[in-house]
Amino acid sequence: MADVDIRPKRIAEFIEPFYVKPGRRVRLPADFDPSGTRKVSKGQAKEILAAGVDLLSEYQDRLAAQDTYGVVIVLQAMDAAGKDGTIKHVMSGVNPQGVTVDSFKVPSAEELDHDYLWRYQRELPGRGHIGIFNRSHYEEVLVVRVHPQILAGQKLPAKMKGRGVWQRRFREINDWERYLTDQGFVFVKLFLNLSKEEQRRRFLARIDRPEKNWKFSSNDAKERAFWDDYQKAFADMLSNTSTEWAPWWVIPADDKPFARVAAAAVIANALIQIDPKYPKVGKEQLADLQVAKQTLEGEAPDGAAPDPYEAEVEEKKAGDDGDAKGKKGKGRKKG
Ligand code: ATP
Ligand code: MG
Repeated sequence: MADVDIRPKRIAEFIEPFYVKPGRRVRLPADFDPSGTRKVSKGQAKEILAAGVDLLSEYQDRLAAQDTYGVVIVLQAMDAAGKDGTIKHVMSGVNPQGVTVDSFKVPSAEELDHDYLWRYQRELPGRGHIGIFNRSHYEEVLVVRVHPQILAGQKLPAKMKGRGVWQRRFREINDWERYLTDQGFVFVKLFLNLSKEEQRRRFLARIDRPEKNWKFSSNDAKERAFWDDYQKAFADMLSNTSTEWAPWWVIPADDKPFARVAAAAVIANALIQIDPKYPKVGKEQLADLQVAKQTLEGEAPDGAAPDPYEAEVEEKKAGDDGDAKGKKGKGRKKG
């Protein structure tokens, strides 16, 4: 069994193989194996995921308190790669008040009446918040590229639809992300890399199991016919939009428990890099706190501890000391 560890110092090492080095020319599926390289047992995955979720929860709390940085998590993948499950499991421990999820589908008439980044800009999280983009502005160089009629239907000036359109979009997206990064909005871009065979299996499961039927649409099968075109579009997207300020991470997605651990690790790593800090309280405010403390202690009813919280901490400390001594000695059990 591989030793996969979610503690901060080991996370960077664990996620290294998923990193798309800026400037690297990516070929798919040759360069990234959807079945991954490390085996993690179900039990291990659960344990590591739980640790990762705890870590995320703590950092999210600090992110909100500091109120300087925002995080945009971008999820891109072929159908049935597990975007929904990843969001559900990875974000299970975070405070819902600090997270928004936006799913981007076929653009509305109003959205088509604006520039193509408009609808994504509108859903960006505020400072202290995490925004998850379930599909994203990258659809503009994926589905739109695979189906030229979609580009034809966008209300762009004619010369903007001709040669060089994709290179221009890559540049525009990179510039937009760079601007936002400078403003304190950190992009975490995850490509859930599914194999064609695993997609076939998952589609069949959706067809065979009544409780999964709702997840399958005949359109999914139609899109599958464009598999190779999508792989090319994804590879070109990774090659052109993995930047120093907003790199891509390719998550092996054939094994669901592993994919969740890997995604949690990349997100946790981003938060560790930001290293948000609780705001420091100034001298004056500290003095105010002491005044308030005295007032509250003075209001203690008869028989109550003046500061029950302090008393609790003291008691716990005493208990822990006793435990430590007991362990060294006769292994006394906590009562
Ligand atoms: P699920 O199937 O799990 O509910 P989904 O993300 O696949 O999630 P669907 O409603 O099935 O959601 O599909 C949304 C569709 O919208 C996708 O086929 C996607 O390619 C398409 N889409 C997203 N953005 C754009 C865009 N900018 N232009 C055209 N099509 C887009
Ligand atoms: Mg779908």
